[in-house]
Amino acid sequence: MEIDKLEQLRKTVVRGAQEIYSKGLVEDGEGNVSVRVNKNEILVTPTSTKYLLLNPDLIVHMDLDGNIIGSGRIPSTEVKMHLAVYKDRPKVKCVIHNHSSYVSMLSILRKNIPIIMEQQLIFLGGLIQCTEITEAHTEEMGLSALKALGRNNAAILANHGAIICGKSLDHAVRFSVILEKLAKVYWGALQIGEPHVIPQENLEEHEKMFNSLFACYPKRLRVKRKTGRD
Ligand SMILES: [Zn+2]
Repeated sequence: MEIDKLEQLRKTVVRGAQEIYSKGLVEDGEGNVSVRVNKNEILVTPTSTKYLLLNPDLIVHMDLDGNIIGSGRIPSTEVKMHLAVYKDRPKVKCVIHNHSSYVSMLSILRKNIPIIMEQQLIFLGGLIQCTEITEAHTEEMGLSALKALGRNNAAILANHGAIICGKSLDHAVRFSVILEKLAKVYWGALQIGEPHVIPQENLEEHEKMFNSLFACYPKRLRVKRKTGRD
């Protein structure tokens, strides 16, 4: 049963990786996709992924301390960032890292994306933050990514790309597409004027939807709202 589940999850990683490739969010050799197997283990794409040649046998099984389980390929050193997210956020079932073009452009400018569209709050959680610059492939980059994620499902990595997480692979793929779309729209709007941000008072219902359907931040970050009774 456990072996069947693992095999199924290997196929899930391949599907997710090929989806982000077909949507133009990564080129061969860049980006990575992982899914959680259980509390302490994940499956992740191998280093230098050739997306169309990927198959379940090439997917790497490892624990959250970074040890590879069984034989097979090695993961990208960027997996440290994935591990940091899984360790900090028990609800996260999938992490995607990509170098999509518009997010990468904003990452070079170290720009956050203010709340410019309603779907941003519903699916991603709000204002998208860019990290401080850190050395790629380090644990520090993972910590910096977590800080920028805050309660959100996506963040921009300074001079690098994007990190996205979700409660399922389908969520994380969808959020990756939405993030790139938002970055493109924001970039375009900046070319012709000063973008208007959506006022906070218009967003309460969207925030509720985010929290009930898509949020995967840890309990300690839950915001206690005043009910009027306390
Ligand atoms: Zn990268």
